[in-house]
Amino acid sequence: NTIPLCELSNGTRIPQLGFGVFLVDPPEAERVVSDALEVGYRHIDTATIYKNEEGVGRAIASSGIARDDLFVTTKLWNADQGADTTLPAFEASLDRLGLDYVDLYLIHWPAPARDAYVDSWRVLERIEKSGRAKAIGVSNFLIPHLDRLIDETGVIPAVNQIELHPYHQRRELVEFCQGNDIRVEAWGPLSQGKSDLLENPVIVAAAAAHGKSSAQVVLRWHLEQGNIIFPKTTRRERAIENLDLFTFELSSEERSAITALDRELRLGGDPLEVN
Ligand code: NAD
Repeated sequence: NTIPLCELSNGTRIPQLGFGVFLVDPPEAERVVSDALEVGYRHIDTATIYKNEEGVGRAIASSGIARDDLFVTTKLWNADQGADTTLPAFEASLDRLGLDYVDLYLIHWPAPARDAYVDSWRVLERIEKSGRAKAIGVSNFLIPHLDRLIDETGVIPAVNQIELHPYHQRRELVEFCQGNDIRVEAWGPLSQGKSDLLENPVIVAAAAAHGKSSAQVVLRWHLEQGNIIFPKTTRRERAIENLDLFTFELSSEERSAITALDRELRLGGDPLEVN
């Protein structure tokens, strides 16, 4: 297996490249994840709100892969945030996944209008201590949300999973995370198919130079930036393609040309608004 492992602040190791299942239809999830595991992925990123945890769990159960060799992330949905609702929501996720622990449990959005992410975080700390999540973190948190968590609880999230791609690089937030030992997970690494990123001439030229696809070039850029990624596809041949990132390296010119594509293009939800 050529996928590098990244060490999180508590020593947990996470494959830098995994497989995401946002918008994978629940009836299709088992087949899609079984394919992903078969072609070599060992890190699966799901969430309660994706409504496909059962399918992910069935694919894991039938894979025959040792639990120790898998890395499974799921996330607390916003409506379940709060001191009394977080633990039952977590346990329901474990049930649906058919697992007795997850590797990483995340607060999906800060949902600031609910003002409940600090309470939820204290519950996640207890979950981590109980061993039912090997690591805990957050998603879509901005600097003020991270500052508040750290100030009020003293416990630093292992990761912050944020929208991040060449058109939306979020340098200030990334630097804050790096400075605080919070690993950055990039969601929407290919810009979710919602932009012209894969047709951008800079990407197309690098792809031609290496005999790779545009998607492979963008994913390779992420790995070289140190981001943890889990691109999504329901197509087995693309799952294979997205895993084939370890036989080439971008030149420093190509890397900086891609880094120069930043245009603050947010394609997903606004972390201040999603509730
Ligand atoms: P993505 O950037 O991975 O894009 C997925 C889309 O890119 C696919 O639907 C397909 O159209 C296209 N694609 C994939 N492989 C391709 C290839 N080789 N060539 C050409 N096109 C290709 O977007 P995503 O799925 O939104 O993000 C990845 C994962 O991040 C999700 O599945 C999910 O696990 C996670 N995520 C988290 C949040 C969050 O709020 N925490 C939000 C969105 C996604």
